Amino acid sequence: MKLEANDIVQWLINVNREIQEHKDYLSRLDRPIGDGDHGINMARGFRAVEERIKNTEYVTASEVLKDTAFLLISKVGGASGPLFGTAFLKMSTELKKSNTSFDDRILINSLDKAVQGVMELGKAKVGEKTMVDVWHPVVDCLKQEGKIQPEQLSNVANKAMKSTKKFQATKGRAAYFKEASVGHIDPGSASSFLIFESLAKMLKEKK
Ligand code: ADP
Ligand code: MG
Repeated sequence: MKLEANDIVQWLINVNREIQEHKDYLSRLDRPIGDGDHGINMARGFRAVEERIKNTEYVTASEVLKDTAFLLISKVGGASGPLFGTAFLKMSTELKKSNTSFDDRILINSLDKAVQGVMELGKAKVGEKTMVDVWHPVVDCLKQEGKIQPEQLSNVANKAMKSTKKFQATKGRAAYFKEASVGHIDPGSASSFLIFESLAKMLKEKK
């Protein structure tokens, strides 16, 4: 499938809609194992993203993702702002190498760079109850398939998000809750699920 800047804009607009709709839910997830601000943080950041990208003419997806990254870094705050910002910045850098039009495989490569960036910055591995628990298995699955099947993407991301319930947090604010962190979905994993579900939605509607 051929993708370009406008498709990435649509993806991010979908993300903002999902985040605004689930803002209270995301903050509620952050209450028992954090400080209850995750939904507010993400909603602030993605609202700014939609506003910017809707009002800008983009030639490349790389530029869309770069604006997104810097807005998330400056507006989201908390631990998650720099981490999500880094994810999109790594995608932007990887996509800079490609043409204005690119395919699934190139998008998957850029998502792979995003996970690596998040893991480098946050030092979290799979199983530490962070957004890595969604990003890593999702990208692994996409790499194996070599293409993006929307239904599968959304299912894998959903399962991965739910799997964070059983983990004990050893990174971020949730780590202070030690064993008490078990039994709760990680808020950053829930917003990561929304990011992938929004990607699936964009791809499905494009077909
Ligand atoms: P804060 O914890 O500063 O209040 P948020 O509530 O916005 O920030 O975000 C919390 C989320 O950030 C967690 O649910 C987790 O997914 C993610 N997170 C925290 N620390 C790390 C880390 N070291 N690596 C990856 N993700 C992390
Ligand atoms: Mg928080």
